[in-house]
Amino acid sequence: MMGAQVDDASGAALRRDADVLIIGGGPAGSTAAILLAERGHRVALLEKAHHPRFHIGESLLPANLPLFERLGVADQIRAIGMEKWGAEFVSPWHGRSETFLFADAWRKDLPHAYQVRRSQFDEILIRRAARQGATVIEDCRVRQVEFLEGAEGARVEAESEDGTRVTWRTRFVIDASGRDTVLANQLGAKRRNKQHNSAAIYAHFRGAERYPGSRAGDISIYWFDHGWFWFIPLADGATSVGAVVWPYYTRTRSCSVRDFFLATIQMCEPLAARLAHAHLVSDVEATGNYSYSSELSCGTNYVLLGDAYAFIDPVFSSGVWLAMNSAVAGAEAVDTCLKNPARAGAALRRFDRTMQRGPREFSWFIYRVTNPTMRDLFMHPRNLLRVKEALLSVLAGDIFGATPIWPSLGLFKGIYFASSLANLRRSLAAARSRRRNIADPEASVSSS
Ligand SMILES: Cc1cc2nc3c(=O)[nH]c(=O)nc-3n(C[C@H](O)[C@H](O)[C@H](O)COP(=O)(O)OP(=O)(O)OC[C@H]3O[C@@H](n4cnc5c(N)ncnc54)[C@H](O)[C@@H]3O)c2cc1C
Repeated sequence: MMGAQVDDASGAALRRDADVLIIGGGPAGSTAAILLAERGHRVALLEKAHHPRFHIGESLLPANLPLFERLGVADQIRAIGMEKWGAEFVSPWHGRSETFLFADAWRKDLPHAYQVRRSQFDEILIRRAARQGATVIEDCRVRQVEFLEGAEGARVEAESEDGTRVTWRTRFVIDASGRDTVLANQLGAKRRNKQHNSAAIYAHFRGAERYPGSRAGDISIYWFDHGWFWFIPLADGATSVGAVVWPYYTRTRSCSVRDFFLATIQMCEPLAARLAHAHLVSDVEATGNYSYSSELSCGTNYVLLGDAYAFIDPVFSSGVWLAMNSAVAGAEAVDTCLKNPARAGAALRRFDRTMQRGPREFSWFIYRVTNPTMRDLFMHPRNLLRVKEALLSVLAGDIFGATPIWPSLGLFKGIYFASSLANLRRSLAAARSRRRNIADPEASVSSS
């Protein structure tokens, strides 16, 4: 049980104690809460919203599935998920599409993932955290974190929706606040990613055309002149569609975000065809300027998880997996820091290496996937020395632990560089065009 006491006679501010205070109950925060509560720590998980709540990020990766088993939520997620066996890339420049099946990746035991409604998925995780013994408090926003001298932990100010203020005393703080980046903001550590700059506009439709059989749940990625679209079929018949566009394109908007989005879809003929008989069933939302990372992932008594640490372009559907995997690494590090302080330094360094690996491996592809050489490789994949299997393992999220993909992935990158050199003029033109595309640092679209 958490310790709690009233601070003064009026009862206005409560003081409560925890071993670990987690800011944010998304996939990262709830995963960390489950794992740390299971290890006997007194965990407080504060979430500013109330689940179920909408969140974007509905396409999951196969590498996430063993973790669902470990967290004890696999059956619940299977029940709400749409099976996703592959990812289709549709290229107007090649006039065709290429489908990658996860069953063809290096590891043959992770052949599928799920598409999920995040309102359901995130609620499963946060309720599991409560069942495993974490104190879960919703409608409660963390306002301020004050770190105490040495290894004394921190004081955390939180405010509930009804105005109740609580001061928490905690030995360790985990920031899993997602794109709110509570600690990175407070520490002045957040840096916009200058190598990638785009915005997203998205909504849910009903009546979109689905592929038959086992392909019904595949994600489709449609490239077009100003960026790319996702098409994510959900289990209840709805389809999530989003456009990720370069900043200059968002500046051309002279109508509502809804009309802008619908007009943008019409620029992509194969996607427009699949939506010809579909209608919007949600508001159209927009998110601007959205790739960043924090200069640090941890300190003496805090760690940053998931989007609270870094956000990369969602083209490979990596966000939820990176967030949950960071929570596994974070829980391991926090457990060591609390139980064995002499090993804290090594544990936090190990955690930091995990945090950097995910964004680094995916970003290598994200920065290049709009390049014609990379698109050629995606459209004509060959499995020379298992390079296609290695690429598919990245697309499946199998990049942590003792995976044997690295030599073949290195060869894939070598082929990419050799092809770029062989088409030098095209490569230079693509590099110039990319510089122009990411050039506008102020671009954003707001929902209206
Ligand atoms: C346009 C777009 C498309 C995406 N598509 C995909 C996709 O297809 N697949 C995929 O895997 N990922 C996708 N992502 C990324 C994915 O949404 C995130 O990576 C993932 O949600 C990160 O999980 P998290 O737990 O770190 O943060 P979140 O899921 O954002 O959770 C953070 C939680 O913290 C709470 N919070 C924030 N501030 C406070 C505070 N001060 N006090 C208390 N609580 C607070 C929030 O309410 C929220 O519930 C997409 C992202 C975007 C923007």
